[in-house]
Amino acid sequence: MSQWGVDGAAVLAHILAMTKPTDDIFTGSFTQQEPIPEAGIEAALRVMRSGRLHRYNVIGDEPGEVALLEQEFAAAMGVRYCLAVASGGYALACALRAIGVQPGDKVLTNAFTLAPVPGAIASVGAVPVFVGVTEQLTIDLADLEAKIEQAKVLMLSHMRGHLADMDRLMQICTDAGVQVIEDCAHTMGARWRGRLSGTDGLIGCYSTQTYKHMNSGEGGLLVSNDAAVMARAIMLSGSYMLYDRHLAGPDPAEFSDIRYTTPNVSGRMDHLRAAILRPQLAHLDAQCARWNARYRAVEQGLAGTPGVQLIARPPEESFVGSSIQFLLLDWPPARVQEALARCARRGVELKWFGSAQPTGFTSRYDSWRYAPSAPMPASDRILAGIIDMRLPLTFSIADCEKIARIIRAEVGAVFQAC
Ligand SMILES: *Cc1c(COP(=O)(O)O)cnc(C)c1O
Repeated sequence: MSQWGVDGAAVLAHILAMTKPTDDIFTGSFTQQEPIPEAGIEAALRVMRSGRLHRYNVIGDEPGEVALLEQEFAAAMGVRYCLAVASGGYALACALRAIGVQPGDKVLTNAFTLAPVPGAIASVGAVPVFVGVTEQLTIDLADLEAKIEQAKVLMLSHMRGHLADMDRLMQICTDAGVQVIEDCAHTMGARWRGRLSGTDGLIGCYSTQTYKHMNSGEGGLLVSNDAAVMARAIMLSGSYMLYDRHLAGPDPAEFSDIRYTTPNVSGRMDHLRAAILRPQLAHLDAQCARWNARYRAVEQGLAGTPGVQLIARPPEESFVGSSIQFLLLDWPPARVQEALARCARRGVELKWFGSAQPTGFTSRYDSWRYAPSAPMPASDRILAGIIDMRLPLTFSIADCEKIARIIRAEVGAVFQAC
């Protein structure tokens, strides 16, 4: 008994228990993004006070927020042309139309991607040809080579930010005369051997939807160095005859013929969204670094967890870790479900690409029943093991470390029990 008349060891144990990091439950939200920067809020208020929200509603020589965003994004990506549109999915479909994909044409694309990608292909009446996924979660280049003769276009999805060997991929496509459209919804700001994602293919497409790397609620961007392609994209997006107001568009002469023959498939961006995006673009690289610090914290915390296969990132790839994936390869589905349920009980939301029914945003090639597909056993094995987790910037590094400890404990426990 101590001077306080209580058991000193018990008090000490109690104090230790209280000061021990409480790893029981994580309470952060996996879908909570950061607020819009104050500069964006102020710019948005200015647009609203002006009443001029439509991109072509400008006065005098006012360029307008949308044209300025396009100019700044083109400069940031080091490309000649940029077009801002209503969504990432719209950008993808617009890209297909701009290169003349016709109903019935086949378009190669990833078996591991999200629904807007095959959806964009289907929206122009074309037919997806799915290409498999590797354990690095990139498009399987051997499978691409095997199927390359089947189509003239590859819609390449850099799904969850994993970049394939872009040198080899571009070589395969160039040799076969296949045009590449890049879906950079998860790679805005990423690079392959220093080249910004979206600049290898004929067209790069980005999303500025809330869960991507810049947030305007909805929105999309297309980039290209090809004047004819970009002129058609601008007409398609609904420029009417106002294409000369684009600061990041081709010379007006480029439109002289196509202006009569290109349909208006209305899908413009407005000044309000562009106003919100411009200050975010200025901080893109800094934000990417913050994402990567979070990614590395989770990755480090998970390293060596029994039963968990982390995704090795090649040295050529500068990725943006806005989400993290790992594989529970060859786990029985019931065990995967158990591990996910145990993590969920402790507040850690993991998504599984292997579930029999598509749920939430998780989806895979055989979920899209409008598109024909033959079974792909090697890819199915990988898809069945992919676990996916968002890393919003509202998480601190300590949050990420805690999340990793929870996953490590719960997934490890289920694995050891198997
Ligand atoms: C979000 C997303 C898109 C589409 O973007 P939206 O702006 O939501 O239309 C396309 N591809 C992938 C992989 C995505 O995650």
